[in-house]
Amino acid sequence: MSEDTIFSKIVRREIPSEIVYQDELVTAFRDVNPQAPTHVLIVPNKAVPTVADVGADDEPALGRMVTVAAKLAEQEGIAHDGYRLIFNCRSHGGQEVYHLHMHLLGGRPLGPMLHLKS
Ligand code: AMP
Repeated sequence: MSEDTIFSKIVRREIPSEIVYQDELVTAFRDVNPQAPTHVLIVPNKAVPTVADVGADDEPALGRMVTVAAKLAEQEGIAHDGYRLIFNCRSHGGQEVYHLHMHLLGGRPLGPMLHLKS
């Protein structure tokens, strides 16, 4: 069984969060430390730790995450200019919370995809 994270608590509404969308498969809420005018996290309700742990059973939720991202981008008014969807995976990917999530970022030019550090 996956370890419970802060995101599972948000999904179950046990801790406060600005939830912008929720259905039977996924939950979307605003990032507490936004990196762009729109910064929403979209998570499967089921706690899969990382992209590397996704199984065939998770495919409906992963597909829903993308369609919800596109709908939220329309609602946020960022769809026309464009936006970025990011999955960070494990330590080299910069993942901090081990409940799989997709970042929806937009509202300003986001620049090059990677900020490389030596
Ligand atoms: P990652 O580095 O891909 O694991 O991203 C984790 C993200 O979760 C970061 O952008 C954090 O700002 C965000 N975050 C951490 N705790 C919370 C929280 N309680 N509510 C909303 N966002 C959070």
